[in-house]
This record gives sequence, structure tokens and C-alpha cells, in this order.
Amino acid sequence: MNNSKDSIKNSVKDIFFQPRVLVVDDEVRIQKACQRLLTEEGCDVKVAENGIKGLKMIKEKHFDIILLDLMMPGMSGLDVLKDVKSHHPDTVVIIITGYATLEHSIETMKKGAFDFLPKPFSPQELRLVISKAIEFIRTLQDITTEKSRMRVMINTLNNGVLTTDNQKRIALANPAFLKMIDCRKTSVIGHNVSEFIKDSRLLDMIDQAINQPGDTFAEITDEMTMPFSKEKEEMIIGIRCIPFRDRLNRNLGSITVLNDITALKKIDKLKSDFVSMVAHEIKSPLNSILMQLNVVLDGLAGELTEKQKEILQKSSNRIKSLTKLSTELLDLSKIESGLINQEREQLDLVELIKGQVAFYRDQADAKSIHLTIKEIKKEIWMMGNRINMEEVVSNLISNAIRYSPNGGTITAWADEKTDCAKIAVSDTGLGIPQNDLEHIFDKFFRVKNEKTRHINGTGLGLAIVKSIVEAHHGTIEVKSEVDKGTCFSIYFPKSEYKI
Ligand code: ADP
Repeated sequence: MNNSKDSIKNSVKDIFFQPRVLVVDDEVRIQKACQRLLTEEGCDVKVAENGIKGLKMIKEKHFDIILLDLMMPGMSGLDVLKDVKSHHPDTVVIIITGYATLEHSIETMKKGAFDFLPKPFSPQELRLVISKAIEFIRTLQDITTEKSRMRVMINTLNNGVLTTDNQKRIALANPAFLKMIDCRKTSVIGHNVSEFIKDSRLLDMIDQAINQPGDTFAEITDEMTMPFSKEKEEMIIGIRCIPFRDRLNRNLGSITVLNDITALKKIDKLKSDFVSMVAHEIKSPLNSILMQLNVVLDGLAGELTEKQKEILQKSSNRIKSLTKLSTELLDLSKIESGLINQEREQLDLVELIKGQVAFYRDQADAKSIHLTIKEIKKEIWMMGNRINMEEVVSNLISNAIRYSPNGGTITAWADEKTDCAKIAVSDTGLGIPQNDLEHIFDKFFRVKNEKTRHINGTGLGLAIVKSIVEAHHGTIEVKSEVDKGTCFSIYFPKSEYKI
């Protein structure tokens, strides 16, 4: 008994308002009993002795709960219920009646009553049903609050947000999204995305997200330039598209987030331009210093002592490293500013690898390294930029030579799978410590330990390789074990190459 008594008070405490209850009953005894008990429980209780008066009161002010008698003179409880449900759907109606039959109960429930309380009822029974009603109101309130919070949040976001169902009908599109896709319509809900989105790539990404198999969860990302109209400035948009699912992992629809990265891209370009300018400005004086040093080293400016030769040779080596650094910085900034792979051609990866293996043969021999090519197929074609692809293979082979002690083995090969072309270079060299593996593609990152200390490098080679691979829509993987060796594998998607 105490439990049910506590539960109303607790429910009332938990909600942010005092529940307003209206008792519509012609029996004064019931009106008074309900009013007294529920007022004691913290509710604000009003009474009406018939349906017409009750409806008038409901019209004037909102009631959270109505205790409604079915059998009243004048308007019947069922008619009151119908009116309340059609005009005040949020109000919870509890039927109280002395004629509690199964048909009555079913009929009132069908018409939207929350519960049915047969007369006579005890105070505990009334408390219980009111507590249930308050719980229900509270759940509804929580959902409404949450929805409203989400709506305000999403509508005020600077990022564009779109959600669709699995038929690609729009369930939500915030103002930022509509602005980014240059859509001036405000009522887009329920329409198919293709009615408003004209960009085929964006439509394709939504399609991919919705059709993603339940056992995978991949975020589909891309960047695109949106030249919506000639008068508007170009906008660069980062796109992320993901499916959302129910508990059984069935795709319910997609969520797309658009992020305006125009400013970021501009800053990035400025940075690349600056680096490229500095590298370029450094490169020519360095070359001229190198040439002059060579003149002196070759003895064309007079005899040199052994000590002088040694010092000049060291300077020359340092300048060569600096020239390499500026060349690599220039390459990287060219890649970052999108200047590469503009000219693509059909390349035979087997032939390309053979060329690079031949080029590095002498360097490998000098360290007694066995440099081989594993021939799997005669030809493997891809569409790519020749200079870039040569740079990729060249970097991997030269690294394999530099980071292998004398007498190792390096194997390079190309292979073809159903959906991709592969290039791989493996060595039996120093290997890369596990902790460093995730950083080796970062600019300027170099593994620092006793074994690598004397090997010169800039830390830019693999960053260049990765940028080139990504510009060709490929991926790069590395497997390595310290003192056992390293294997780099690169995969290019089939759509990127044709035979
Ligand atoms: P660099 O060789 O000029 O330092 P890279 O970007 O080419 O720069 O390589 C980054 C780092 O990754 C290297 O410093 C080296 O420590 C490690 N690394 C690259 N390739 C290999 C390899 N085949 N074996 C072992 N370590 C490697």
C-alpha cells in the first residue's frame, strides 16, 4: 500500500510540473474523493459534473490527466473521450465507470483511453493508475524534450546534416545542408533525395551507405567542390556518409554530414605554396654551391690536401642531402596542391617494376643485396601517372636497400586480384618497431634508433608515396618485424585501371 502511495509522490517529484487532473463525473462523492486524494498527492485537481462542462474546461486550459465517467446525463463519456482525443491528443484519459463490461473497456481503449478503472475503486487503485499515467506523460515528455533538443541542436549546426530512410526519402535536412546543396525549398521531408541533390557522387554515397551489408560498417568519405552557381564562390565540402541500423542490424537509412572546408583548404594551399616557394628558392643556390664545390674537389682550382678534400666532401654530402630535401618538399607540395596525376596513361606495372629494379641493381650489389623481381603475370595494367608511379616504386626499393644490412634479399612484384592491382616490395632488413608503424607515413617522421642513426634521410619519402597512392585512389599497407624485414603493399581499385 505504501509503495503505491510513494509512487505517485515520486512520479510527481520527477516531473517538472504539477500534474493537472480533471475529474469529470456526475457523482459528487466520486468528485470529492478523487479531488481530496489527488490534491494530497501533489496534483492540481479540478472537477466537472458533466461532459459539456468538462470539455469547456479542457478547451480553456490544458489538463494532463482526465478521470472520465462513462455514464453521465447529457453528453456520454465516450463522446467526451472522442472529442478530447481529437483535439488534445497529449491528454491522458482514464475511464472510471460503474458499468465495467469487457465491451466498454475494449471500446474505450480503441478510442484512445489510457486505462479503465471500474467503480467502486480503492484509493490505492486510483493512486496506481494515476502513477502509471504520470509515468507515461513523463516518458512522452522526455521524448518530446529530446526531440526538441535535437532539432534545435541540428538546426543550429554549421555542418549540413541529412538523414534519409532506406528508400532514400528525406527524414531530416537542416538549414545548413539545404544551403550547401543550394536548395531553396523548405519542405523537403518525405521527398526522394534525388529531387533536391543534383550531385551524382553525393547521391552515390547515400546509395552506398544504405546498401552497406549489415556485417560491415564503413564511413564513406569524400571531398567535393560545389560550384552551385556562377555568381557564388566555389565551396569545398567534406562529405561523410554512414548507415544507421536497428537492433537486428537492418539498415534503416543514412546520415550524411557536410562540412565546409573551403577555408581549411585555402590555408593548406597557402602553406603548400609557401613551402614550395622556399624549397624552390633554396634549390638553385644549393645546386650552384654544389657545382662550385665539385670544381674545387676535382682539383680544378688548385691542389687540395687530404684534410681539405675530406672537409669539402663532407660539405658536398650535406648539400646533396639538402637538395634532396628541397626536391622532396617540392614534390610533396605539388602533390598536395593537386598538381600530380593530371596526365594519366595505361601503365604496365610489371614493366615499371622491372625498370626500377634495373635502376637500383648497382646500389643493391654494392651492399651484396639480392634484388629480385617475382614475376607473377606478364603484364598488369593500371591507369596512372608514370612519373608518380615510378617515384612510388623507386622510394620503396631505395628504402628497402637503405634499411637493409649487407647481404639481405629484396623482392618486388606486381599482382592482379579480382578487384585491384597490387604492387609490393618486401625486404629482409631492419624492420620497423611496432610503435613506429603508425607514424611512418607522417611527414618528417624517421625511426630513431642505433641502427638507423647513420642512415641519412628526410622522412618525406613515404609521405610522398602515400600521397601519390591516395591521389590514385589506392591504399598502402605495411607489415614489419624488427630484424626480420618489412613488406609494403599497395592496392589500386580495379575501376582505376583498365586492360
Ligand atoms: P627517410 O627514408 O628519408 O627517412 P621515409 O619517409 O622514406 O623517409 O621513411 C620513413 C622512415 O620509415 C624511415 O626513416 C625508416 O625509419 C622507416 N622505413 C621506411 N622504409 C623502411 C624499410 N624498408 N625498412 C625499415 N624501415 C623503413
